[in-house]
Formats: sequence, structure tokens, C-alpha cells
Amino acid sequence: MKTVKAFAAEKADQPLGPFDLQRRTPGPSDVEIEILYCGVCHSDIHTARNEWGGTIYPVVPGHEIVGKVTAIGSDVKNHKVGDTVGVGCMVDSCGTCGNCEEDLEQFCEKGMSGTYSSYLQDKKTVTYGGYSTSIVVTEKFVLKVSDKLPLEGVAPLLCAGITTYSPLRHWKVKKGDKVAVVGLGGLGHMAVKLASAMGAEVTMLSRSPEKAKDADKLGAHHFELTTDLENMKRLKGTYDLIIDTVSASHDYSAYLNLLRTDGVMVLLGVPPTPEQIHATSLIFGRKSLAGSLIGGIKETQEMLDFCAEHGIVSDVEIIPMDKINEAYESTIAGDVHYRFVIDMASLKD
Ligand code: NAP
Ligand code: ZN
Repeated sequence: MKTVKAFAAEKADQPLGPFDLQRRTPGPSDVEIEILYCGVCHSDIHTARNEWGGTIYPVVPGHEIVGKVTAIGSDVKNHKVGDTVGVGCMVDSCGTCGNCEEDLEQFCEKGMSGTYSSYLQDKKTVTYGGYSTSIVVTEKFVLKVSDKLPLEGVAPLLCAGITTYSPLRHWKVKKGDKVAVVGLGGLGHMAVKLASAMGAEVTMLSRSPEKAKDADKLGAHHFELTTDLENMKRLKGTYDLIIDTVSASHDYSAYLNLLRTDGVMVLLGVPPTPEQIHATSLIFGRKSLAGSLIGGIKETQEMLDFCAEHGIVSDVEIIPMDKINEAYESTIAGDVHYRFVIDMASLKD
């Protein structure tokens, strides 16, 4: 075991603060990683504050991890010391169930091991995430990262990137498809970049008029204000696919109305409270309401390679570890452009 520095929330209503963490000595299949950058996902906030219930305290959040390999176990084949690597939202799964065999580890029938506030496959050992100076992860869940891209911008690809890439691929977005993205935050800005790189005609649907210029820079072809009801009426029946990234309670029916016949709306945001929809929102126009959870390891590597090929990274604001509580408040207020990323060197001093 090795003691490493971290930041943790001890309780739902307490700010995050310094915390010492024990990381295991790398076993034969393990990779030890010095963490250079870790993105700040809204899921970190939901979990630290127990907004979904079930948080295991103390919690060290962080599942958008980029770093360098510092040690490997004797059986590790795909990574070597000095490699640049990434770790996302999962650190293990059973590896043998039907979903794992189909590269859908996020839906492991025995339960995947989340990177934090979760358990390893022994169902006893608690996991601690990337707000720390190092992590030890079994080799299969360690991704290869290109040195061509700025690493601080790569970190958010490990969650925001794959979470938006996976539904765009699953629903086979192609050139000319009309894709709308709801909510311009961490996930939303990646959805815009990825959908436009896939050739879609992308519309940003946002409640924040000041984000219109940024949406344009990110690659959106249109920007529509969702608070303008006349606008929402005019857009009825427009989109093939809607990617909903909103983190707070909102009316799904208002967006379903914007789908064309056979259109699909995919929920990515996880508001803490349930929403109601009327059956007619789906029946008229044979529409589908779907959800999507991150992506499997194979698809995450495919996404990282796609981003390296297309020069896509996240737009980030770099912060030192001790500014994390302020970053949470800014994220909740929608004041982040478009992902806070912690420079982990600030925790080593
Ligand atoms: P974020 O950066 O905070 O972005 C959320 C965006 O939603 C905001 O920028 C804002 O965009 C919009 N929004 C926020 N509050 C709103 C409100 N009250 N009414 C209307 N719009 C509101 O969050 P994120 O990191 O992208 O995460 C978004 C959600 O996805 C979170 O719930 C997170 O837990 C979830 N998530 C899911 C997965 C998955 O696998 N499905 C993976 C990661 C995260 P505008 O100002 O443009 O309207
Ligand atoms: Zn996340």
C-alpha cells in the first residue's frame, strides 16, 4: 500500500478538503498512474452531495483522469512505464457476462466497478477517484492517450467525450442529420464538437443567451433559446436526434415536441428527481425516449482515437485542487467554459 494525497467530501453538506488515501501495490495485471489532470464532471457534484443517494463517504470524486504510467505488474501487455494513459468512469467489471463480452462493460450484469464511490469486483473494496495524485487500475480499464493533443483538454474526453460519442454512434448519426444538443455544459460542448465532426447539422438548445457565440465557435450551426416559447413553437418537428445533457429538473415533453416523426431523444443528464411525461408526447410521431450511460472500454478507445484524428479536445478552465469547491458552485451556476480541469501538480506541493 502507498499513501497518496487526495481531496474528499466527508459528508453531503461539507466542502471537499485534503484527505490521505491508501492505493494498493500494483498486482500482476495492474497499472500505476501518476495523475496529471482530472476533469470536474457534474456527476462528481451529484455524488459528493449525495443527490442520487447511496454515496459512500468519504468520497474522492474524479473520473476524467489523464496521467503517466509509473509502474506495471508482471502480466501487463498493453502499457509500459512512461506511457500517457487515461481512466474514465469504470475501473473494472466481471469480464465474463454477456454485456462484458459484447464490450458493454458499463452494463456489466454483476455491476461494473465505478471509479469512485463504488466497489471493486470483490464487492468490498471501496474505490476512490481522480482527485488524487495517483491511482492503480487493472490494465483493461486503462486507455491509450495520444501525445499529440494537450492533455488537460483530453481529460474530459474520458467521461464527457465518451458519454456523448456513444449515443451519436449508436443512433448512427451521419452527414446532414439534424441533431440538437440541450444544455451547453461539459457534456453539451463535447456533443456539439463530436456531432459536427460526424457531419451533422447541429443546433444548440440553451437557456443561456450569452452562450450563443461560444456555440458557434464549438461548431454548432444554429443556436436556439429554450426560454423563448415562440422559438420552441417554431422548432416543432425539426430534429432527428436530441441529446439532452441537462443536470436539473426540466420538462422532457417540451423537447420531444421538437422531434420529427421517428425521432429519438436520448437522456444523458441525470436530474436528482423523476420527471413526468404524457404518452401523447411519444405516440404522435412514433417518437422514442432513450437513455445512454458512458460507453464501453473498446468504444472509449475508439472515441479517443477519433478525437486525436480530428484534433478534438475539451475547452477547459484549469484550476488548482484547492479551488474545487468554488468550481462546483460555478458549474451549478452554469458558469464554466466548458469544463473545469484540476492541475494535479497543485496537490503535490
Ligand atoms: P454541466 O457542465 O453542469 O452542464 C449542464 C448544463 O445543463 C448547463 O450548462 C446548462 O446549460 C443546463 N442546465 C443546468 N441547469 C439547468 C436548469 N435548471 N434548467 C435548464 N438547463 C439547465 O454538467 P455536465 O457535467 O455536462 O453533466 C450533465 C448531466 O449529465 C449531469 O446530470 C451528469 O450527472 C450527467 N452525466 C451523465 C452521464 C451518463 O453516462 N449518462 C455521464 C456524465 C454525466 P445551458 O445554460 O446551455 O442551458
Ligand atoms: Zn462524468
